[in-house]
Amino acid sequence: MSALAKNYNRRKIAFKKGKGSFLYSVNGKKYLDFVQGIAVNSLGHANPHLIKAMNKQAIKVWHVSNAFIIPEGEKLAKRLSQKTFADNVFFQNSGTEATEAAIKVARRYFYSKGKPHKNRIITIKGSFHGRTIAAIFASGSKKMTEGFGPKVPGFDHIDFKDSKPRFPNIRSKIKKNTAAIMVETIMGEGGIKSIPNKCLKYLRKICNEKKILLILDEVQCGIGRSGDFFAFERSKVKPDIVPIAKGIGGGFPLGAVLMTKKVAKSMSPGSHGSTFGGNPLAMSVGNAVLDQILKRGFLKNVRKISKYFHLELNKIKQGYPKIIKEIRGNGLLVGLQLYNNQTKFIKKLEDNKLLTIRAAENVVRILPPLNVKKSEINLALKIIKKVCKEYK
Ligand SMILES: *Cc1c(COP(=O)(O)O)cnc(C)c1O
Repeated sequence: MSALAKNYNRRKIAFKKGKGSFLYSVNGKKYLDFVQGIAVNSLGHANPHLIKAMNKQAIKVWHVSNAFIIPEGEKLAKRLSQKTFADNVFFQNSGTEATEAAIKVARRYFYSKGKPHKNRIITIKGSFHGRTIAAIFASGSKKMTEGFGPKVPGFDHIDFKDSKPRFPNIRSKIKKNTAAIMVETIMGEGGIKSIPNKCLKYLRKICNEKKILLILDEVQCGIGRSGDFFAFERSKVKPDIVPIAKGIGGGFPLGAVLMTKKVAKSMSPGSHGSTFGGNPLAMSVGNAVLDQILKRGFLKNVRKISKYFHLELNKIKQGYPKIIKEIRGNGLLVGLQLYNNQTKFIKKLEDNKLLTIRAAENVVRILPPLNVKKSEINLALKIIKKVCKEYK
C-alpha cells in the first residue's frame, strides 16, 4: 500500500532512467516519452548541458535566500528581459505561484495608483492557472474547486467559443473594478486551444481602451514550446504581465513572473516574497536552459520539425476521419482531438511504447522535447498510425 495521498491516478509504470526523448522503465521497457513531465523537460531527459550546469553549481552554493544578492538570478532576469517585452522579473518555484504573483502584481498596480477598488480579474471559463486556492477559483472549474470553498472572490469568467465571436460576452464583463484580463495564450489542460492572433489583438485593444492590464499565462506554451520564445509573439501583442514556469527549469522546479516596469514599480520591498524562489541552483539550471533555447537556429528548428509533425498528423487524420477530429496546437504543443474519450487511445499508444497525456475535450496531448529528432517524430507517427489502424 502506498503511503502517498491519493490525489493522483497514477499509471502503473516507474522509470529508472531517461535519456533525451526516451524513458526506461524499472522492468526494462523503453518508451518514447512525449509527455516530458508535462511540457517541463524542454531539453529532454538527462541533458548533458543541464547536468553540467547543475553539478557545477551544486558544489558551490545551493541556497542563500533573497536577503542577499544572487548573481545567477540577476543574470537570468537580465537575459529574460533582453529577450522579451519584460523589464523586470521575479522568481517563484512553480506555475501556480507565478500566476498568483501575476494576480498580485495586477492588483498592486492599481492600488499604487490610488485605485484599490480595481482588483477583479477576468479569466476564461475552463482555463487552467494552477492549483492554489486563488488559482482554482481563477479558472472556476467545478472539478477543481469542489470541496475547497469558500469561493475566493475577485474573478469574473468569460466564454471562449469555437465559433465567432470568440469572446461573445467580454465587454459586458469589464466593470469599473476590473483590473486585468488573464488568459493562456494556448489553453493547455483545456484542450490545446490557441487563441487566434486576431483575438489576442482584440484583447490588447480592449485592455488599452479600458486601461486595464493584460496577463498572458505562458506557463505551458512559453519558452519555445510554440516555436516562438513566447506563443503570443506571433500576434505582435505586448502583454503587461506574463507568468512562466514548466519549460524554463528543464525539469528543475522554477517559475517566474515577467512584467513591464510600469507594473513592476508597484512591487516595493516586502510586498511579495518567496523563500526558495530564485535560489542559485534553480537560477543556474534556468540559465543553462536558456543557453540552449536561445542558441541561433534552435527555435527555427522547433518550427521546422513541428511543421512536419503537424503535416504528417493531418495526413493520419485524413486516413482515419472517424477517429481523429482535429489536430490542434502550435509548435510542439500538440493536441490530437478524438471524437470519443481518449483514455483507451492513450493506453494503446502506451502499449506501443509511446507516452502521451490527456487534455480536456477528448484531446491526446503530445509534448516532445524541443530538441526532438526527426527519427523520433517518425517513430511517434508510426505508432499513432498503428494505433489508429487497430482502433475500434
Ligand atoms: C501547469 C500550469 C500551471 C500550474 O503550474 P504548476 O507548476 O503545476 O503549479 C499554470 N498555468 C498553466 C497554463 C499551466 O499549464
